[in-house]
Amino acid sequence: MPEGNVLHGLAREINDHFRGHRVHSSSPQGRFAGADLLDGARLAEADTWGKHLFVSFAGLAAQVHIHLGIYGKVRFTPGLPPVVGQVRWRLCDEATTMDVRGPNACELVDPDEMESILDRLGPDPLRADAVPERFTERVLRSRAPIATLLMDQSVIAGAGNIYRAEVLYRQGLDPLTLGTALRPEQARAIWDDLVELMARGLDGGRIDTVRPEHEPEAMGRPPRVDDHGGEVYVYRRQGQACLVCGAPILTSTIGGRNLFWCPNCQRP
Ligand SMILES: [Zn+2]
Repeated sequence: MPEGNVLHGLAREINDHFRGHRVHSSSPQGRFAGADLLDGARLAEADTWGKHLFVSFAGLAAQVHIHLGIYGKVRFTPGLPPVVGQVRWRLCDEATTMDVRGPNACELVDPDEMESILDRLGPDPLRADAVPERFTERVLRSRAPIATLLMDQSVIAGAGNIYRAEVLYRQGLDPLTLGTALRPEQARAIWDDLVELMARGLDGGRIDTVRPEHEPEAMGRPPRVDDHGGEVYVYRRQGQACLVCGAPILTSTIGGRNLFWCPNCQRP
């Protein structure tokens, strides 16, 4: 599932291509009932909260709400290519076409519905208006493991499975540490680190989490080869040697997703 940095990147791309433009809107597949209502409207802005993308239009109270889920994909193409496969939403102007395929949600929501979506979401580290205390206070009073809390979108919105594993490694925290067992400065350090890591992921277009001294060049090691790209400490590195201490990286299912950690560098 794409993490928050990807959704924020999409909002940027939509704004770069379409902000202020009159657009054509349709649902070639027919499953986005509101698509035709937007045809000819002027796109106002795309904005992201966690893994939820919202697109607003001039003079319209309703917005498009998109959640890509695991299978959703967005593709931008110059010009007007023929429709291929199941396109839920096609948005285009003279220069560019955006096709949304396979999303969990792609729907028009009114202001009340939008508010109820946002009410369920914790602060998003990539939003300038995020309130870090909303995260730290939730964490510090929870008896759930920090690895579970980081996957809970009502605690923190947008940090997914890769960032969860990597931030816990960078902070030297055992994934099973309970929220109540953390010191306030540790909870804040997790937040601050995620702000930095996710901003790097947004600008770089991939998730890199290793410190300069652990880059391939600095360590004289080959770059990582993985579909998910990026230089990481533990994510999908089970059985391989920890870049810092050499211990084999472990994996287990926690919070419904595979978690990866170093039993030596991450202590209770
Ligand atoms: Zn280690």
